[in-house]
Amino acid sequence: MLQSIRNRVSTKVGLLLLVVFLFIIFSMGGILYSLFLTFYLSHITEELVQRGKSHANVLSEHFTPTTMNHVARMEKGSNYMVVVLDRNRNVIANSDTITSAHREYLSATGEHGAEEELAVEKDWDKKPFLVSRSLIMQNGEPVGAVVMFSPTAPIHQAVEVLQGMLVITGAITVLVVTGIVFLLSRMIVRPLLQIKQATGEIAEGNYSVRLPVQGGDEVAQLAASVNYMSDRIEFYQKQRNEFLADIGHELRTPLTYLKGYAEILRDSSMDSEEQRAYTEIIYEQSSRLQRLVQDLFDLARLEQGTFSFQVERFPLEEAVTDALTLIEPSMDEKGIDLYYEGPDQPLIIRGDRQRLGQVVLNLLENAKRYIPAGSTVRVRVKEHKDAAYIEVEDNGPGIPEEELPYLTERLYRVEKSRSKETGGTGLGLAISQEIIRKHNGSLSIESVKGRGSTFIVGLPLKKDEEL
Ligand code: ADP
Repeated sequence: MLQSIRNRVSTKVGLLLLVVFLFIIFSMGGILYSLFLTFYLSHITEELVQRGKSHANVLSEHFTPTTMNHVARMEKGSNYMVVVLDRNRNVIANSDTITSAHREYLSATGEHGAEEELAVEKDWDKKPFLVSRSLIMQNGEPVGAVVMFSPTAPIHQAVEVLQGMLVITGAITVLVVTGIVFLLSRMIVRPLLQIKQATGEIAEGNYSVRLPVQGGDEVAQLAASVNYMSDRIEFYQKQRNEFLADIGHELRTPLTYLKGYAEILRDSSMDSEEQRAYTEIIYEQSSRLQRLVQDLFDLARLEQGTFSFQVERFPLEEAVTDALTLIEPSMDEKGIDLYYEGPDQPLIIRGDRQRLGQVVLNLLENAKRYIPAGSTVRVRVKEHKDAAYIEVEDNGPGIPEEELPYLTERLYRVEKSRSKETGGTGLGLAISQEIIRKHNGSLSIESVKGRGSTFIVGLPLKKDEEL
């Protein structure tokens, strides 16, 4: 099965390459071949006609045996052969032995009766010679003819060499493409098969699979993405298990209290002071339970997109100051200094005033929970490049850098026990992040352990003229 996929992909690419390469080589070869032949033939024919013409000119001036012998001697050592005919087509001089093949052209000479020089035979492929004929003229009358022969064997040889070169190039192409297919199979198909196998294992639940990432090409990037995906799935799987365990734990504690104190109240006869104290505990625990269930419910609806928002245009700083007003007394009580710095002009945004206020309140409540008395919280609302920013900065204990990416995960707490003591559910930042996301905004967290944390909410700003 795996083998057949490898074969299929690389064979397809290989065949495509082969067809493209061969097409290019043979079409280029065909063009070169016909160009070469045209030039080579026209060169030889022209040379042949020119030579015949110049011999005929000389003989027209001196139509004597000495001149004829001279002409014949001139062509003796050359590739050409000359035959001089008299008016009655009798051979009167020749530079080489005349065979029956030559004779065919000699008897035909003169039929055309034209004065100009002619290439009489041009068929290089089937005939043994190219032939030209030039008339010898005296006083305007033809007195004889010069017939020139050029053998076609050298043309055949040149053509054979050319065809041989084409065949060799074709063979080299096939070899090169085979090599490329082999390399492709090693470089692409094999890693792809590894990736296929790895994703299969991930689907089966083995999240520890990691692929080797070699180089930076697309296949390596794909392998890196699969590794990342596997990382994330492993993380979410762990998160889910932890989430279920945490939920169980979160629900168990208040329920134990509720049941325990309700039982005491039911069974015992106590004074109203004690009754009040127990009822108070029951109330607190049921409120905590209610908050947790509400938070979980909100988060689920936010993530599913079924959460409804009351969208309006309003000055963002108002949502912030509302939250500050709510939290100020409890900050005072804990001994935390609270400072606020508003924008120069109102920052009108489009969104759900109450939900954004809830985000700010959550950030402020976190600051109150996690920083010690005597610390400072600074809240700033400002504008920067078409966006409004709310910054909540504290000089508390800070958050370790490696924890920052997970803060907005559901039920994630940096120090689990401490957060529970302080009454946090571990859902605050997850809900805030979802609310901000639904407003096309961003939540970034900067923190240095031991120095403090800054939570920055960015929201797109609608300019007045667009309203
Ligand atoms: P919680 O309900 O537990 O506060 P959040 O989602 O609001 O849940 O916060 C997640 C975790 O981030 C908290 O448990 C806490 O450990 C950490 N955290 C949040 N804000 C601060 C802060 N200002 N300083 C230090 N740690 C913080």
